[in-house]
Amino acid sequence: MSIDGGCRCGAVRYALATGHLPQVYCCHCRDCQTWSGSAFTEQAVVRDGAFAVTAGAPALFELTNPSGSISRQYVCGNCHTRLYNTNSARPGFVIVRGGTLDASDALEAVLHIWTKRKQPWVVLPEGVPAFEERAPAEAFGSLIVGEAQ
Ligand SMILES: [Zn+2]
Ligand SMILES: [Zn+2]
Repeated sequence: MSIDGGCRCGAVRYALATGHLPQVYCCHCRDCQTWSGSAFTEQAVVRDGAFAVTAGAPALFELTNPSGSISRQYVCGNCHTRLYNTNSARPGFVIVRGGTLDASDALEAVLHIWTKRKQPWVVLPEGVPAFEERAPAEAFGSLIVGEAQ
């Protein structure tokens, strides 16, 4: 079963070889609010071997973080939908914007981070792990999809 997604205009399409829809984490940080033009981002963590662009050629925006890590953001060059990114601090992973998956209406959010920046009207469900700032690496373990290379 192929898990597919793409941009708003349809020029860029991608597929996840994960066999099932990934779970997502939500980041409520200010940067994510600005990136998304919304209250938070929904992100899936996919091993890079399980991610493939299947149509179109995404445009690249590269940003060096204050920590020195390089964030590579891939967008549709036509409609500018932000699709996925990689980060030099976390090699081997692709972070996919959950809202660009075809089945985004079926996503389950299993972790919230940077909740100290969340919009006050966003009410988190009980029992879902939430961190005021970044979360330890172990917190993402159950989220990671795709075979280890
Ligand atoms: Zn597009
Ligand atoms: Zn964020």
